[in-house]
Amino acid sequence: MNKKITVKGVVQGVGFRPFIWRLAGENGIKGHVKNTSSGVVIEASGEKNALAKFISGISLKKPPRAEISSVKTENSPPKTYKTFEILKSESLKQNKAAIPADLAVCGDCVSETMSQSDRRHFYPFTNCTNCGPRFSIIERIPYDRSYTVMKSFKLCPDCLREYENPADRRFHAQPNACPVCGPGVWTRVKGRLLRGEKALDHVVRILAEGGLAAIKGLGGFHLACDAFSPKAVERLRKFKDRPRKPFALMSGEPENLGKLLFISRREKKCLNSFRAPVLMLRKKDFKKFAAVSPGLDTAGVMIAYTPLHRVIFKKLAALGFRNPLVMTSGNLRDEPVIKDNEKAEEVFASFDAVLCHDRPIHNRVDDSVCFLDTSGGERLIRRARGYVPESVRLPFESREQALAAGADMKNCFALLRDGEAFLSQHIGDLEEKLNRDFYGETISNMKKLLGIKPSVIVADLHPDYHSRRITDALPGKHVYVQHHVAHVLSVMAETGLKDGVLGVSFDGTGYGPDGKIWGGEFFYIKAGKVERKAHLSYFPLPGGDLCASEIWRSLFSLLYAGGVENKKLLSFFRGAVKVSERNTLMRMIDSGVNSPLTSSVGRLFDAFACLIKRDFYATYEAQGAMELESLVREKPEDFYRFNIVEADGSLQISPLEAVSACLSDSLAGEDEGLMAARFHLGLSVAVAETLSKIRKGTGPAPVCLSGGVFQNRVLTEWVSGELSKRGFKAFFNSKVPANDGGIALGQLYSHLLGIKPAWPGND
Ligand code: ZN
Ligand code: ZN
Ligand code: FE
Repeated sequence: MNKKITVKGVVQGVGFRPFIWRLAGENGIKGHVKNTSSGVVIEASGEKNALAKFISGISLKKPPRAEISSVKTENSPPKTYKTFEILKSESLKQNKAAIPADLAVCGDCVSETMSQSDRRHFYPFTNCTNCGPRFSIIERIPYDRSYTVMKSFKLCPDCLREYENPADRRFHAQPNACPVCGPGVWTRVKGRLLRGEKALDHVVRILAEGGLAAIKGLGGFHLACDAFSPKAVERLRKFKDRPRKPFALMSGEPENLGKLLFISRREKKCLNSFRAPVLMLRKKDFKKFAAVSPGLDTAGVMIAYTPLHRVIFKKLAALGFRNPLVMTSGNLRDEPVIKDNEKAEEVFASFDAVLCHDRPIHNRVDDSVCFLDTSGGERLIRRARGYVPESVRLPFESREQALAAGADMKNCFALLRDGEAFLSQHIGDLEEKLNRDFYGETISNMKKLLGIKPSVIVADLHPDYHSRRITDALPGKHVYVQHHVAHVLSVMAETGLKDGVLGVSFDGTGYGPDGKIWGGEFFYIKAGKVERKAHLSYFPLPGGDLCASEIWRSLFSLLYAGGVENKKLLSFFRGAVKVSERNTLMRMIDSGVNSPLTSSVGRLFDAFACLIKRDFYATYEAQGAMELESLVREKPEDFYRFNIVEADGSLQISPLEAVSACLSDSLAGEDEGLMAARFHLGLSVAVAETLSKIRKGTGPAPVCLSGGVFQNRVLTEWVSGELSKRGFKAFFNSKVPANDGGIALGQLYSHLLGIKPAWPGND
């Protein structure tokens, strides 16, 4: 009996064909297996029972890193085979095969790397078909060594034997390498070149002694130092011009992390997964983490995910050093992470060591960041290494090829092909010229890699967005989607919702078609139309963008424009803000000069952060909101009430009563944690009450909530609670970030569904 079996999904570069070869051997199946443009195709010949066992084994026993989306079986004409063979890859006409994401080192490779008798002892580039670099080294597809940066390393006889033996774990492991034939590490000490273990020992000593090192990793350079040395961390902060923003950490000994941080079973699994993201974990020991994530109750940690990092930690442990290391992206503030040796040696010249290696990085890719929600679901904050370029399947059949430009902050773009969205890695803030170069370069790289020629380009409605300007220059039909609508659509795309949806979009800023800055929006999406049903009441932002760093401005504006008694207002700001500055602000608000109106919930968080923490400035985006969330200990008995009023044909959430109540509390010296909790609960209740009011007109509908504000765990949890009390079903982002990193997915989906705004002034 003969069968043709087609397997689709992530089945290339993950040891799939040798797995099929072994499975065929176990079941006495003859025939062959090959990679084709539409997946892995198997010709199998054998007894009926053996075939059935073979076919069910494909899904049941698949290699750990393979993702099977479908297994299709057809009868095929009888033919006799003598053996089971792995055939050479078909030259792919269309680049449709999925490209695997980079994989964290596997257990087998760790054991070999640590084993003194192994030929790969302490070799930093050990890998196999179950692990190692993928996306970061691919120049074009099909995924074959000659199309990766490994093409310049000729396999030695030992490595070649592994590479050609289907029974070997390294059969067709494209980045296969060893100390004899593969890339190595090196560093310079006062102009002298140190290679291999000597280079590693030098860097390890520096780290153990509290020095700073730049280390070339998988997708770019990292900047590293002892996470628990306040002096080292301070030096790194100075270099990066990053006074308070939390640093990501790396740990070599996951067993020890439990003493420092709360880790659930699910979190442990996520940490040790092949994606190995930076996971946000709650602190047990606040003091130790004070320098790396000041003012926050969480720290972001990843497990050493390459043999290079493993060896570094092993050598550190041998010196008695067991702390986590700071492992922050090797870039200058807001610029792309550096990936090339020469540039790194120049930019990080002031560091105590720069550890380079000679495996080039073709596709730069940052570490991914995520947290688990209370039900254990994964929520991505930054989608990059370990995820990119895996696709997100859209719940919409389409042959169309499109490009979605994304947003300007936390940019990530997306390409559409056959109803699948291929999201780029995190690109960054397009205000920065080097990021714009990275953006343009990555768009053309990804188009080539995936063989996509977009006929439609979807961008943000904002006329001054760089992402829009850059993509407007590309040929094709141009479509624009309002920022906050795209946020909501990103959740709909993930959950498969198509119509009759209520949406809530809370973030920092986005372009509103009425000329105001939106950021606290409620929508109803029905029959291809989106209506704005409610929003946070507008308030002036004196100084515009300056308000994001000078957070006292938002508070001052809310209080002053809201008509709060001058005496109270002054007693709060006295001593903190100069009289002249306050007077200027009052004049700006009165006259409306350089004071755009906003409905931004991000700025509302800033105002309350200033009020509650008496911090008048923020040094990084969303600092106020993150620190405010960290203050909350438990759900309070009462809360600050937001009034919901009807004005100008829509509902508006007025913050005035809440902000006044909090001002009185603050002046009376109320506990910070309690005030923060009252604010979070008050806002949660306001969201649920607003939706209840909207539902009276629309009828029951599921709710999709998105925007950077919904990265706040407390708010998300309490809003969910308030919504379920009122019979709503609530959905949040999970596979793509709720922040602007998810915008591109929403843009694509909005275009596919043909969503048109119900407000005037749009094309
Ligand atoms: Zn491995
Ligand atoms: Zn070799
Ligand atoms: Fe946004």
